[in-house]
Amino acid sequence: MTHAIEIADLHKHFGKNEVLKGIHMTVDPGQVVCVIGPSGSGKSTLLRCVNLLEVPTKGKVFVEGVELTDPDVDIDAVRRRIGMVFQQFNLFPHMTALQNVMIAQQRVLKRGKKEAEVVARENLDKVGVGAKCDAYPAQLSGGQQQRVAIARALAMNPDLMLFDEPTSALDPELVGDVLTVMRKLAEEGMTMLVVTHEMGFARQVADRVVFMDGGVIVEDGEPAQVIGDPQQERTRAFLHRVL
Ligand code: ADP
Ligand code: MG
Repeated sequence: MTHAIEIADLHKHFGKNEVLKGIHMTVDPGQVVCVIGPSGSGKSTLLRCVNLLEVPTKGKVFVEGVELTDPDVDIDAVRRRIGMVFQQFNLFPHMTALQNVMIAQQRVLKRGKKEAEVVARENLDKVGVGAKCDAYPAQLSGGQQQRVAIARALAMNPDLMLFDEPTSALDPELVGDVLTVMRKLAEEGMTMLVVTHEMGFARQVADRVVFMDGGVIVEDGEPAQVIGDPQQERTRAFLHRVL
């Protein structure tokens, strides 16, 4: 079976700062893998290397068997299969929710306006903000904006989704709605790589939890093991701080 994501000996430097120091990991189709770890440990950089928002210094990244780090690869074609959701929702402020979910479909997938609108409405319904199609981002709560951002990613029919702390910018009472949407996606079989501090979500939804610290993977295993019975002192210290 081809891995959905395969990362082999990934290194990333920013100048003299080595942020990723030889990462090895795989995500299989349909799996949910949560990445946890302290701020500055390289989690975002890792995720960004998976769709080449950052170019690795060394090592290989494969998405569905295609080597992203191969200079001849059609990176736009690979990126189209990957949905990404950020901590900051990055919606266009001058467009409605509906327009935000339509625009990339029209520009990138060359869908006609009618089709893009149908797909946008379906996905906004799916994430529970179908009634907010005509609202502008400023008229939506953070949780609603983040769900629009998820709908926007889903409208592109990605094979896998990357989430970078999707609930970290939200007021606590809005976190649950976003996690519910993510849980539903996971149950539908979406392949997901999720950086999160939500240990409850990681425990319940993840097939595997990866603990990163200082640019390396310290532990990688089932949630019950990594969160419930960590083997490394660094993991225990981190969990002690966040749980
Ligand atoms: P995390 O997401 O785990 O908090 P990051 O991947 O954002 O960690 O950052 C890891 C380290 O890389 C930090 O020291 C950060 O300052 C540095 N870093 C991240 N992006 C850049 C960049 N574009 N240029 C320079 N340094 C960066
Ligand atoms: Mg980060």
